[in-house]
Amino acid sequence: MFESDATAIAQRSSTGVLPHRDRVGDLVDEAHARYADCDEGAVADYIPVLAEADASRFGLSLIGADGGSHDAGDVDVAFSIQSISKAFVFALVCEELGHDAVHDVVGVNNTGLPFNSVMAIELNGGSPMNSMVNAGAIATTALVPAANADERWARIRDGLSRFAGRPLMLDGEVYRSESFTNHRNQALGRLLQSYDRLAIGPDEAVDLYTRQCSLAVTARDLAVMGATLACGGLNPFTGERVVSAETSRDTLALLAACGMYERSGEWLFEIGLPAKSGVSGGIVAVAPGKGAVGTFSPPLDPAGNSVRGQRACAYLSRALGLNLFASSPDPARPDAHEGVSR
Ligand code: GLN
Repeated sequence: MFESDATAIAQRSSTGVLPHRDRVGDLVDEAHARYADCDEGAVADYIPVLAEADASRFGLSLIGADGGSHDAGDVDVAFSIQSISKAFVFALVCEELGHDAVHDVVGVNNTGLPFNSVMAIELNGGSPMNSMVNAGAIATTALVPAANADERWARIRDGLSRFAGRPLMLDGEVYRSESFTNHRNQALGRLLQSYDRLAIGPDEAVDLYTRQCSLAVTARDLAVMGATLACGGLNPFTGERVVSAETSRDTLALLAACGMYERSGEWLFEIGLPAKSGVSGGIVAVAPGKGAVGTFSPPLDPAGNSVRGQRACAYLSRALGLNLFASSPDPARPDAHEGVSR
């Protein structure tokens, strides 16, 4: 369903390392060329400024765990990070409060419903369910420890900047456009408050969430941010430890379960990588220990996931052997093909 002819490519084992860098570069170029002309999907328009996005933009960046980078297309075009911020704010909160606190307060199960669902909260006794849907992200942002709203925002912005390895800036136009029209997120904030699920007031929580979604990034930034998770929390460019290996592991587990909204199961089945998408057209997909792919292309499928980005990730996952669940016996072992009966 993601890409019929990609299934013709031999599925390599997920173990080991990336192929030689020349081969990786060729495959990144090939992935870009294959899908650049794809005209499926529609640009999001429920946030007015996003409707103005250039649908033809397509950037693809792969950063290896060794810091090697491979770029194709519009990798330097800035766009608002949107829902992809949820992954990294989750990591910051998990790092501060620990595995159990986030598990207990927010949850880690997929809702099976759209990212802005009100019904998901109602069906689950007021639980926001997971940090990758809007309600759960608002509740997670509210958990960022700080004395006041300014300090909380500074911690989020600085934390995401450490993942990217450069200072990330707010896109004021996106922030204003979303702030004027985010009535649904405000409703989610009030609903969470009514269930006593918000650590701070709903107005502050939704405003901070809107700000984090409005940080400007590029496809290359997303690849660096993802590569930091692929390297156990160590940014391969700056060498800075941003979060612990345990937090990286927990974040990737959550992305595998919930990162692509209600399409997460299908994504895992086809592509086999933890990933997060955003409504402005970004996707980050992480191959633990190997590296990460960042993509940008605004046209989305009905679930809100970039069409070209999904196809490029599917192609690269298969061609580079990134699927977490793909394995094959080690031909060097003499008993490799004889099973475990002896
Ligand atoms: N800021 C957007 C919203 O709250 C993020 C959604 C998304 O990227 N899926 O609707």
